[in-house]
Amino acid sequence: MTDSDTDGREPDRPQAKLNKPHLRYAGTCVICGCVLPKGAQAIYHAASKTVRCVECPQSAAAAESPWSEGVTERYMPPVRREQIRLAREARARSSDERQYWTPSGVALGTATPAVTADDPKVRSRGSAAEVVAADPTPLDAGTAGASAQREYERRVAKREARVKDRFGQRLGGVLLAITDEPQSTRAWARGARGEQELAAALADLTDVVALHDRRVPGTRGNIDHLVVGPAGLFIVDAKRYNGSLKIRDKGGLFRTDNRLYVGGRDCSHLADNMAWQMQAVETLLESVGVVMPATPVLCFIGVEWPLFFAPGSFRGVRLESPKSIRGLVTEQPILNLVEIHETARILATGFPAK
Ligand SMILES: [Zn+2]
Repeated sequence: MTDSDTDGREPDRPQAKLNKPHLRYAGTCVICGCVLPKGAQAIYHAASKTVRCVECPQSAAAAESPWSEGVTERYMPPVRREQIRLAREARARSSDERQYWTPSGVALGTATPAVTADDPKVRSRGSAAEVVAADPTPLDAGTAGASAQREYERRVAKREARVKDRFGQRLGGVLLAITDEPQSTRAWARGARGEQELAAALADLTDVVALHDRRVPGTRGNIDHLVVGPAGLFIVDAKRYNGSLKIRDKGGLFRTDNRLYVGGRDCSHLADNMAWQMQAVETLLESVGVVMPATPVLCFIGVEWPLFFAPGSFRGVRLESPKSIRGLVTEQPILNLVEIHETARILATGFPAK
């Protein structure tokens, strides 16, 4: 293959979205998981705010396309060439277990694969052990509830400083000891505990990867939990609330206006708050050419569920308990172990632990 052979392919790549800066900070390639040292040239994907190797194919699904071989490979550092050679050998050995990278829609019951067997994007892969062994960057699962816990501690310290500043060290100390923390401060501690309890509920599921407290680059928000299991990808918000959970219709005679109530409080906004998280995950997966349904989940901890006709979803968001979510992420499998780990690695790179 000569350089001019690539001319036909070049326009197919979404060049407009990609810059090739030299990195000001060390990064991790969102496609192959390689560490990209500070100063290295890399490709920057603006929409997902991720970086990737200059020589990496533009999509995880197209890793087997001719683009990962030949022309681009000549300019690779030897270590990188060796990694690709090993990965290719591993894949060749398992060519009899070819499968779709993107079982799009299967989890939703529509069963329409995004690619056909003739599609060059169909990708074969090695066994789970080979993929894990070839994975150069260890996956940082994050610490459940870390951000909420930090915010709680920040508020406690701020209040302590304020009270002691005003009443002096001794009287301030007494006042702090006999007064309660404000409700808004305690809510952060309760939030952290809820996230920890959800993490604990999933911890012993061996084929499930749970990422906790993820930063969404370019925003101030965080995603509590990203869970990848046999049943697919789940975006989970954990809420530790008291009281009974129910959906009530607040509409009139001719209009339906369903609201989600927990302990008498209207919590409908919690479901709406999943939308931007869904959007962020879809943007990242799209940037690496992966099409996979993501299911938003609100996991309520400590609430009383109705004995009969407990609601399963609200405004498209699954409503689960720490017990029921275990079944949700494992039953009706659509992903194998390799796909679970590769998806988790892409998510862990795109949404770093806080
Ligand atoms: Zn790469």
